[in-house]
Amino acid sequence: MKNRFFFFVLLFCIVLAGTSYAQKGDSYDYDVLIKNGKVFDGSLKPAFESDVAIKGGRIVRVAKTIKGTAARTIDAQGLHVAPGFIDLHTHVDEGMTFPENRACLNYLVQGVTTVVVGQCGSSGWSLFEKAEDQMKSWSEEGIGPNAALLVGYGTVRRIVMGMENREPTPEELERMRALVKEAMDQGAHGLSTGLEYRPGSFAKTDEIIQVVKVIEPYGGIYHTHIRNEEDKLLEAIREAIEISKKTGAPAHISHFKAAGKDNWGSVKEACALIERARAKGLRITADQYPYQFYSNYPYESLIPSSAWRGDEEAERVTTEDIEKIFDYLRDDELIELYTKVTPYIPLSEHHQQFLAELPRKRLVSFVARSLLNTSNFQGPENSRERMLFLQRMNNPEDAQKIRQEVKEHVEQMSGSERIVVGICVEKELEGKFLDQIAAMKGKPVEDVAIELELMGAKVVPLHMCEDDIEYIMKKDYVGTGSDGTAPFYGIGLPHIRSYSTFLHKIKKYGLQRKTVSLAHIIRSQTSLPAQIMDWKDRGWIKKSYCADIVVLDLENIRIKTSISNPHQYSEGVKYLLVNGKVVIDIGEWNGTLAGEVIKLKK
Ligand SMILES: [Zn+2]
Repeated sequence: MKNRFFFFVLLFCIVLAGTSYAQKGDSYDYDVLIKNGKVFDGSLKPAFESDVAIKGGRIVRVAKTIKGTAARTIDAQGLHVAPGFIDLHTHVDEGMTFPENRACLNYLVQGVTTVVVGQCGSSGWSLFEKAEDQMKSWSEEGIGPNAALLVGYGTVRRIVMGMENREPTPEELERMRALVKEAMDQGAHGLSTGLEYRPGSFAKTDEIIQVVKVIEPYGGIYHTHIRNEEDKLLEAIREAIEISKKTGAPAHISHFKAAGKDNWGSVKEACALIERARAKGLRITADQYPYQFYSNYPYESLIPSSAWRGDEEAERVTTEDIEKIFDYLRDDELIELYTKVTPYIPLSEHHQQFLAELPRKRLVSFVARSLLNTSNFQGPENSRERMLFLQRMNNPEDAQKIRQEVKEHVEQMSGSERIVVGICVEKELEGKFLDQIAAMKGKPVEDVAIELELMGAKVVPLHMCEDDIEYIMKKDYVGTGSDGTAPFYGIGLPHIRSYSTFLHKIKKYGLQRKTVSLAHIIRSQTSLPAQIMDWKDRGWIKKSYCADIVVLDLENIRIKTSISNPHQYSEGVKYLLVNGKVVIDIGEWNGTLAGEVIKLKK
């Protein structure tokens, strides 16, 4: 009896404490008050002194001096306050399948508060799921930055037509259009294509037009990894413009660049095409990452596969070989094998249904390609290939042929003066260019290239040029898109853009080279992306906007990632707010997942 009495007293106290705490919380004028900072509001205006007040996830006041009480006051003396960065183009959705990566910490520490995913033709959700499944799981389990999803046309085409290189039948086209419509109904923001990748590359312009027509009535946007970023850049840009013109949907060109040194400078004509279209009222925009090398695995081989293989071509394991082996298994055995090694545990209902409905031929190919990568069997790490290569190098005639092939390959890659050693057992060679190493060792470039390859060095060719990067950056219709991923921390060799795009752009091009003004760079990663995505409540430090806010220490930006050691978080973001919640506090992530799935408002 006595115990029970104490229990009630205790309960009463807890309730009382809870209420008084709640009242106290409500009695503050603001949730967060950022004082004494210099504000870049998202416009081209230089930073101005202002306080910013936040309540209920929104910016409620922006004024020179804001008085009043706040649950949390941040002193931004000596710091800059800007809208949280919006990354127009990322592949973080793949990594975000895994709870440990859901924070996208590599992006939060760069000041990114919103990512657009589902790029380059790959939907922001798995082949066998729906947009709403992905949105639901991210909303329930929490994500670091806000995320907006696109439906990928490559994924859609794969679901309906597999990897077949042909035009769709009218029924198939209708099914693909229906899948796109379904995703739009569920809140996707538009469609992405990856026209350099299979199966997107199999789709002709008219087919894409028919599909983009589906997103137009929703106010959706067409993001495109165009058909060619090299010698046919202009044709590819024209195709994107034509698709916009014939559908009425805005077209957005992803990771805008000219790759390959013979094509440098063609970005000028490409920009002229875009500007002519814009002058006619078409909504054509682009994004860019500020690096001279591409690919989420930017390391390449110094020995072309032809020189590596010699006449052994027929001996090399191909995807078809692997499919032949898998063809010996029954359907249920294939599915069982796939179930054992798939990262999706347990398989969802949709996933199982997807596998069950795949025709036999496609099931074999799907499982084989999901589980095995032929490149695992190739190159200097494969002892058989290595032995055959060394034998040929011992034959003077073969060796001469190989050396010639390597020489041409290096030239084609971008030239020895533009190939940089990323990782090497001889540490002093890291960061050096191939021509420098050849000069140091007093050997021809091709011999040094063969030596490096045999010792397992990883090199990065610079396919793009600085002049083009700066030319594109100056355009007022080009936003920032990192094209990066949410990698497992410490695993693999991702492109450094995943760790540094936003702060690197500010530091190198805004503070050091002064290519453009700081306000121009901030705009390219805040209000411009918001405008491109047609978001009317993000991307600005303005009253009633969502409180996605970054507080930057411009003098102490440190980019620590490098091609020799990519997994290094950047520094320079002192505070970060996502939807009004502090997630980075004095430079450290506090574990909060405050991101929301941004659905297209119909
Ligand atoms: Zn792409």
